[in-house]
Amino acid sequence: MQKKENTEVAPAKKTHLQWVVVFSLISAIIITSFVSWLLYNHTVDLLTQNLKKQELSIVRTAALQFDSKDLDQLKKESDYKKPEWEKVVKQLAKIRANNEEIVFAYILRKTETDDKKMEFVADADSLDPYAKIDLNKDGVIDDADALVAPGNLYEDLPEEAFQGYTTPTTNKDLYNDQWGLLISGYAPILDQNGKTNAIIAIDIRANDFNAITRETFFPFLAFILVLISILLILTTILIRTWNKRIELFAELDRQKDELLSIVSHQLATPVSSIRWNLEMMLDGDMGKLSKTLEENIKSLQDISGNLSDLVSMILDVSRIQLGRMRVEKQELDLETFFKEILEIIEPKAKEKKVNFIKSIPSKFPVAMLDKRYTHMTIENLLSNAIKYTPEKGEVSFKIEIRDNNLYCEVKDSGIGIPESEQDKIFGKLFRASNARNQFEGNGFGLYVAKGAVEAQGGKIWFSSQEKKGTTFFLELPLN
Ligand code: ADP
Repeated sequence: MQKKENTEVAPAKKTHLQWVVVFSLISAIIITSFVSWLLYNHTVDLLTQNLKKQELSIVRTAALQFDSKDLDQLKKESDYKKPEWEKVVKQLAKIRANNEEIVFAYILRKTETDDKKMEFVADADSLDPYAKIDLNKDGVIDDADALVAPGNLYEDLPEEAFQGYTTPTTNKDLYNDQWGLLISGYAPILDQNGKTNAIIAIDIRANDFNAITRETFFPFLAFILVLISILLILTTILIRTWNKRIELFAELDRQKDELLSIVSHQLATPVSSIRWNLEMMLDGDMGKLSKTLEENIKSLQDISGNLSDLVSMILDVSRIQLGRMRVEKQELDLETFFKEILEIIEPKAKEKKVNFIKSIPSKFPVAMLDKRYTHMTIENLLSNAIKYTPEKGEVSFKIEIRDNNLYCEVKDSGIGIPESEQDKIFGKLFRASNARNQFEGNGFGLYVAKGAVEAQGGKIWFSSQEKKGTTFFLELPLN
């Protein structure tokens, strides 16, 4: 009894192009955001450098112009009552009045007990340190409005202020406080002996910085955001349209395959009926035939045989496309099986004057294979090898049993397959450019062969060199 089992092939995969679009969009957003971030940092850097230069020039000039002779008189809180205090504070107020960018101008000095700490000497606002002035103009007079007196400690001074003892310098970065975005600069005030006895500190407002960020960079950012939003909307529309198109094409393709399937089904019966009648005529069942009539009927039989092959090939193609290919594995006597194939192939090779070499084992194990598809696949590989090999060329056919697999090798010295087209060779209806116009064919054979081999759990592959030849390899599990 013959055993049978069925296997179905899955339908073709959908395109992944929409993922390419999504990936490109995400990359575009990441790149744009990164470039904007670089641009922003670069702009901030440039503005900060510019501001630092401006601050350095202000603080350096102020230090040079400052008359330091009264500073030694101002050491303790009560010294604010001395006339020197008023002179120093007025000098500072004048410096501030000369430049509207300056918010604060003040003098600092290292304390006598600890040179890691600094104390105030005077501040441009401190004529009367105890006056009730709403210095920050917030409507209340509190600690934030505290004025300074000589000897008051300045807590949390940055490292740069101490560097200001030797050379004019500024803060590393801008900082935000209740008076806005500021930067501070420090420069040494020298006594008559050229020794630093205090530093002048000047805080300037980063008005330009704010304005440029607000007026240039924010609109640019807004533009980028709008651009990204438009891109997102367009991509969504594109993907939706795309998906609809794909669905439409898939449906059309399915309908076409359905139509092909119906047509080839309908054709199969009359074609076999014609073949059957021709067979009967040749057998003499319808009376004796004259020689000429017999020859004509034989030629008709060949034509109808080709037509029948074509119809079943089209049927197979539509079955693969619709996911309805069904292989029927059955116990196969491989010896007889190959004998039948060679009976078809060897005369073809002879007719084409191609040297046909075969290497076939003398014994075969029991095989479970789909007879029709396996026959069709191997016959197609051999027929192609003969077809695409010129006269006096060579075709060799090797069969082996390897690890319970049927292994076939069909090698020819024919036209070969151009390298650039090799990845499409198992595609539906594909014919290579060097075969298309010179040889008859339809491009169905390898497509169906691959479907049939894979449906049986096997593999089919090839190696080829144009103008040198091609070798097809086939491996099918025997059970
Ligand atoms: P057909 O031979 O009817 O065109 P196939 O599906 O059998 O269709 O083969 C597809 C294509 O693969 C062929 O048109 C040909 O370009 C190429 N091809 C197949 N076998 C060979 C071979 N042995 N040598 C060179 N080209 C081949």
